Amino acid sequence: MTTGIWILGDQLYSTQSALQNCNNPSEVAIIFIESYSHIKQLRYHKQKLVLIWSAMRHFAEELRQQGYSVTYEIAEDFQTPLESWVKENQIDQLQIMTPNDKPFLNTIEDLKLPCDINLLPNNHFLWSSEEFNNWAKNRKRLLMEDFYREGRRRFDILMEADKPIGGKWNLDKENRKPPKAKLNTPEPLWFEADEITQEVIQLVDSLDIPTYGDLKQFRWGVTRSQALKVLKYFIEIRLPDFGPYQDAMVTGEETMWHAMLSPYINLGLLQPLEIIQAAEKAYHENQLALNSVEGFIRQVLGWREYMHGIYHHVDEDYSQQNWFEHNKPLPEFFWTSETKMNCLHQILTQVMDTGYAHHIQRLMVLNNFGLIAGISPQELETWFHAAFIDAYDWVMQTNVIGMGQYADGGLLASKPYAASANYINKMSDYCKSCYYQHSKRTGEKACPFNFLYWDFLNRHRDKLKFQGRMNFILKNLDRMTPEELEMIHTLAEMVDNL
Ligand code: FAD
Ligand code: SF4
Repeated sequence: MTTGIWILGDQLYSTQSALQNCNNPSEVAIIFIESYSHIKQLRYHKQKLVLIWSAMRHFAEELRQQGYSVTYEIAEDFQTPLESWVKENQIDQLQIMTPNDKPFLNTIEDLKLPCDINLLPNNHFLWSSEEFNNWAKNRKRLLMEDFYREGRRRFDILMEADKPIGGKWNLDKENRKPPKAKLNTPEPLWFEADEITQEVIQLVDSLDIPTYGDLKQFRWGVTRSQALKVLKYFIEIRLPDFGPYQDAMVTGEETMWHAMLSPYINLGLLQPLEIIQAAEKAYHENQLALNSVEGFIRQVLGWREYMHGIYHHVDEDYSQQNWFEHNKPLPEFFWTSETKMNCLHQILTQVMDTGYAHHIQRLMVLNNFGLIAGISPQELETWFHAAFIDAYDWVMQTNVIGMGQYADGGLLASKPYAASANYINKMSDYCKSCYYQHSKRTGEKACPFNFLYWDFLNRHRDKLKFQGRMNFILKNLDRMTPEELEMIHTLAEMVDNL
């Protein structure tokens, strides 16, 4: 029997389940496919296309060096090259690691090939879907904090016997320092594009399909060895101070102390456990602050695994949920960054330049705006998916539809992440040089985050009053006059001209 393996673009590691039992590389045929019809589905960031295709080409080359017979196809669709490769190589069985993304599973199921297709369990996460479902069953609420604690115990991370090191499971409250004084942030670790990447850059630049973003400076790593360098750099240079300013945003500081690891983990160039263990080792060996190390480990062992588990746990219609019934179209400035709102302008420009923004920029500015302005969660999700270097269906549904837009009615988040200019002004320096005034909620130059926020609370007062954590905030609405609320509503209807 001849076995063939199709390696998908986010499965670039040698221990992935389709590859891990190949003892004799010379007897296995491998195929990679770059498909144009696939990338035409969304207006992807050019750097994302370069990252994925260049990483695929590098991994294909590594497998060739190990003696595998590797075919690399650039084609319109997946069906045509797969069919002819299966016939040419007389393949009886095509092995594929089950994709993380549900839509891609449908693509595989629609293939018509003259061989069997064997889908192997995905091993890209610490928790399989089955293990997550076992954890979730019979629970009233699927709280991330409960899941995270279970993960700490299960993988024995930052534990002293059965207790958390330091006595507390979660030090989040120590990770919210506003950026008051000048911060001395470390430079990010970037890379020069090699010959393979240069070729992909030229290809992507010449594509005659709608794309997004800038390709003037492509600086992401594209191999496991580069991803390992980013991990080492993070652990040595950035992790020691990762904690305190985790939520801060500063003009011109694209990455602060953040890890910048998501593009690499999501492609399979790094594995979650090696990252978590590297951080834990540094805590013990270098006496790092616990709030930095725990804060980071919680993201990977907690949030990342939890979001993936929820994605496979929820019903098929999750992506279409819209609890607030928000239907406004996405404003054009999300694609152009041309807006007078300085916070959005800065972050959107940064996303165009790099495909990256850190968590609070994504959640409390981009997403927050979508939520309070009443933008369709599905339109916003499509934009995030296209624009971000690390975005895939599994991470988008839960982060945008669930956490960011509360479109699932609170399955995932305990309250909507809605905030006024007060929060942005406290956690960033963006308001200092903005056309709008962060202290005003009506009148000339009133900050849109203020009138949109209050209008959002007022519009959804009936739904929100049942969310225990919102009652206190809703009381403030009662202190506003009907005239002010009317004025706020009129302003909130004009989101396109901001
Ligand atoms: P750091 O904060 O320095 O490192 C933490 C690591 O933990 C990340 O590398 C990531 O792997 C993981 N992580 C933390 N939170 C999450 C989470 N909520 N979901 C998944 N992984 C998490 N993450 C993506 O990987 N791809 C996305 O497309 C993406 N889109 C997001 C959209 C929104 C609206 C929000 C609120 C969050 C999104 N996230 C996404 C989660 C998180 O913002 C990014 O993982 C993080 O900003 C990546 O940068 P970093 O590696 O420097 O992060
Ligand atoms: Fe953003 Fe408002 Fe601050 Fe301007 S004033 S930066 S729009 S929060």
